[in-house]
Amino acid sequence: MSTLEIRDLHVDVAQSDTDAEPIHILKGVDLTIDSDQTHAIMGPNGSGKSTLAYAIAGHPKYVITQGTITLDGEDVLAMSVDERARAGLFLAMQYPVEVPGVSTSNFLRSAATAVRGEAPKLRHWVKETKEAMAALDVDSAFAERGVNEGFSGGEKKRLEILQLALLKPKIAVLDETDSGLDVDALRVVAEGVNRYKETEHGGVLLITHYTRILRYIKPDHVHVFVDGRIVQSGGPELADQLEESGYERFTSAAAAQ
Ligand code: ADP
Ligand code: MG
Ligand code: MG
Repeated sequence: MSTLEIRDLHVDVAQSDTDAEPIHILKGVDLTIDSDQTHAIMGPNGSGKSTLAYAIAGHPKYVITQGTITLDGEDVLAMSVDERARAGLFLAMQYPVEVPGVSTSNFLRSAATAVRGEAPKLRHWVKETKEAMAALDVDSAFAERGVNEGFSGGEKKRLEILQLALLKPKIAVLDETDSGLDVDALRVVAEGVNRYKETEHGGVLLITHYTRILRYIKPDHVHVFVDGRIVQSGGPELADQLEESGYERFTSAAAAQ
């Protein structure tokens, strides 16, 4: 079993205008995720959910000013982005980047090589990717297209889940994987996440604004995220309450502090 442990995490975001003061976004996040567990973080727009995902992934714009992140006791904050991936962390971003001119199949093979420490044997790799693509309802032409180049929202999310299937991380952070998906695409993507959970027993941190995806991916723990911190944690019933009453009672409580 693996454990991602986040303690008292404070994060500043550097502004594009480099003379401007960084903004203090995360204000003390505590969260422990074991592999085999699914945690959902739910919160209003602008509350800092993506900032948390980027901080875990090691994006250079997000500066840790206090606190720790460890994976099985190892200091994640001391690792480069590549080392984090090799250690078993995976981040699916809310806004995936396009890499024109790099084919999706080459990108996936490079990523697998980086994470596994050696290039996958070609024959085995072809079989592996074919199966993973078939499971996600993508045709073989997909692999020859540039990474995310002209991809629809659903195709971008399928590529993320394809990476999940091939890279087999210990802990996967999925930032708004549900956004912009129609019901059919959502189901395919959710099935991919559930397959990863069943076969790899990996941990999932599902970041979302809406409860819709939680009908397909069942969380063990739900956390309400407001103004840079977790303000309440509970079981799946917490998501049902949010579905009914929204975030307002949490945002007004946070504002009153
Ligand atoms: P969420 O994912 O919950 O919508 P974000 O983490 O994206 O929230 O953003 C939290 C806050 O940080 C917002 O007020 C946002 O405008 C600000 N922020 C995030 N990234 C940057 C950035 N690169 N430059 C300036 N402000 C940022
Ligand atoms: Mg947002
Ligand atoms: Mg976000």
